[in-house]
Amino acid sequence: MDRIGESFVKLALAVGEHDPLYVDAYFGPAEWREQAKSGKRPLGEIGKAALRLIAELKRLDASGEDEALRLRRSFLIKQLESLAARVSMLEGAKLPFDEESKALFDAVAPRADERRIREALAGIDSLVPPGEGTLVERLDRFKNDLVIPKDRLDAVFAAAIAEARKRTRERIELPEDESFTVEYVKGEPWGAYNWYKGGNRSVIQINTDFPSFIDAPLGLACHEGYPGHHVQNVLMEQGLVKDRGWIEFTVSPLFSPLSPINEGAANFGVEVAFPGDSRAEFERDVLYPLAGIDPGKAERYFAIRKLLREINYSENEAARRYLDGEITAEEAAQYLCDNALMSLERARRLVTFFDRYRSYIINYNVGYDLVKRYVEKRGGTEDRPDKRWEELRLLISSPRVPSEMQ
Ligand SMILES: [Zn+2]
Repeated sequence: MDRIGESFVKLALAVGEHDPLYVDAYFGPAEWREQAKSGKRPLGEIGKAALRLIAELKRLDASGEDEALRLRRSFLIKQLESLAARVSMLEGAKLPFDEESKALFDAVAPRADERRIREALAGIDSLVPPGEGTLVERLDRFKNDLVIPKDRLDAVFAAAIAEARKRTRERIELPEDESFTVEYVKGEPWGAYNWYKGGNRSVIQINTDFPSFIDAPLGLACHEGYPGHHVQNVLMEQGLVKDRGWIEFTVSPLFSPLSPINEGAANFGVEVAFPGDSRAEFERDVLYPLAGIDPGKAERYFAIRKLLREINYSENEAARRYLDGEITAEEAAQYLCDNALMSLERARRLVTFFDRYRSYIINYNVGYDLVKRYVEKRGGTEDRPDKRWEELRLLISSPRVPSEMQ
């Protein structure tokens, strides 16, 4: 499997020469990347090589192996299948939305529950102060004075990161030298991004195209940093690459069966680090004052955000209809305004995210449900924080695939 792992890394780098999105992180031998650049391989050849490796892996008998090796084998199969699917998309294949997400991410988004969404919308309607205009316009007005002033942004992010890091390090052993830097950028289709550089270092970029609301820093600190993507990458590098020598984990394709687990665990990690009301309290008592925002609205805003989470399956629905050609970009943006209560500008940006990352959108909420269910089924319920942290740590340290997490 070491040889196949190495071949996989080289294939992933080869795909990266055709698809600038594909290689999300790489910290393996520098000369392999140089080789991929200088000897650009045709897509057809890459696809065939992936299929040969899959066949070889399927012939390996792993039944007598320990769990880690069985996971390694099934992970490599799924990862190579995902790579082959991305290659055929780059060659022009168009899959329906659900088939595409199954092929790339080993996951399919269930249809949004219309009744639950209507109930959540009604709940939000009753919490947002009455006034002129649509619900989304009223919500925008309510949020107007929850915007962090630009000159306070860095201080608020720093405080959020420090607290998330402290809470995570109390529960998960991390190398002393792990750290990340924060950069502020513009003009991207995402709100924030973690670029893992290897050697326990990340660069986290935060998009400042739109104003940052007071709930953004803590969410991003956990999702991108602790115990989210930065910690996931540090644990994978330590546990799988350095300790076991599994070279395939030196490359992280963006389109991967790990994506639902990583995005889901990054989202779920927020409430593991800040359970129950502790997030609302920390924001109200520490971040609101730091941002110079009146904490008087904190309680109501937190209640609204809880309900907003209930309607986020609308994002999958908008993406599915749009990418399957049933609605136009502008109709998708309008759908997001009406059903996910996004301002039109943010909705339009999310549609550009659909254009670039396609069915990747499902990883955030389908992944969240998958990870939460998995952790809680193993006893990691909210009233057992030790177990909750331990199950989360085990999950993000091992190469598991969504279809084997039921
Ligand atoms: Zn993420």
